Amino acid sequence: MAVWHAPGRINLIGEHTDYNDGFVLPMALPMGCTTSVEDAREGWSVVSAQASGTVAVTPSGLADREQVPEWATYVLGALWLLHDDGVDVPPVRISVDSDVPTGAGLSSSAALVCSVVRALDEHLGLGLDAAGLLALSRRVENDAVGAPTGGMDQLISLRGEAGHALFCDMRDLTSEAVPFAPAASGLSLLVVDTRAPHRLVDGEYAARRDGCEEAARQLGVPALRDIIDADEAVARLDDEELQRYVRHVVTEDARVLEAVEVLRAGHLDRLGPLFTASHASMRDDFRITVPEVDTAAETLLDAGAVGSRMTGGGFGGCVIGLVPEGEVDAAGDAVRRAFADAGFGEPSLFTAEAAAGARAVR
Ligand code: ADP
Ligand code: MG
Repeated sequence: MAVWHAPGRINLIGEHTDYNDGFVLPMALPMGCTTSVEDAREGWSVVSAQASGTVAVTPSGLADREQVPEWATYVLGALWLLHDDGVDVPPVRISVDSDVPTGAGLSSSAALVCSVVRALDEHLGLGLDAAGLLALSRRVENDAVGAPTGGMDQLISLRGEAGHALFCDMRDLTSEAVPFAPAASGLSLLVVDTRAPHRLVDGEYAARRDGCEEAARQLGVPALRDIIDADEAVARLDDEELQRYVRHVVTEDARVLEAVEVLRAGHLDRLGPLFTASHASMRDDFRITVPEVDTAAETLLDAGAVGSRMTGGGFGGCVIGLVPEGEVDAAGDAVRRAFADAGFGEPSLFTAEAAAGARAVR
């Protein structure tokens, strides 16, 4: 039997830059998914503590893809892809249990997929290296589930380090751990899960992605990551929407690089203005925020945060703030009050420190 834990994540800065070959700076959360893989007598089966019923698959199900509930494709997807790759997958029973809230932008999906892939790698003796583990995890979400995610989620879930953020170059998929310890600067990372209902996420995500690709094509570069001067590039585009997309992506890449310098220098308070500028860029240029998210970000600033921003793909999800340690409770109360006053549902709040990436559990 193999048992692995893989974490959810928060992206500190660098939103919608991943599919533009750019930079991101996520950290792993203490919350995660624990997966066990054990031999089964016959057939393959999947069970989740967060979903009802056991999903069982017959031998033809590995080849012909039987109808299964969507959540189970995140697990069976790894088996299907290995089967397609010519691996002889013996019958196994896979059990998963996660404390990452689903659909909150904290990447419960990567926690699930990466813990499954690591446990399968060990149990089946696949001997995948770091690149192979990442590639299989990405293919499960992109190809088996059909979610067009950019790859950051799996990278941080596999490679995160405690007390560090992970500076990732999404062009060559290299990563470097950078110390992230807000407590050393008297700060806490406060996370507000707005629980806002996700609206139009798939269509809007695809529209942004297509728009960025179209802008890169018009600008004659392989990806927006290759644009250095946002103003110069914007001036060469006619379409107002594409101009805004380019401005967001190019300035966001620059903010990630600046954030990495700030972390290296250990001046975490200087991260604040970068957070806040990133939020304004997502709100005004990329237009992926919603009222709940803007309210949370503004309220945190009013309550003394040195910076705040939405994290994740947008249209709901979480907001993070760097808040002086002594003011965390008051800031949380202020957000709850602001949500009640605006008639929003109750948010969920927690503070988070950077945790380790996927690890074996014994
Ligand atoms: P996020 O990754 O931001 O939480 P996604 O929509 O990418 O949101 O992934 C959420 C989906 O992942 C859920 O709807 C479910 O299908 C699947 N999932 C995640 N964790 C579990 C779990 N513990 N058990 C079953 N399915 C899960
Ligand atoms: Mg996800």
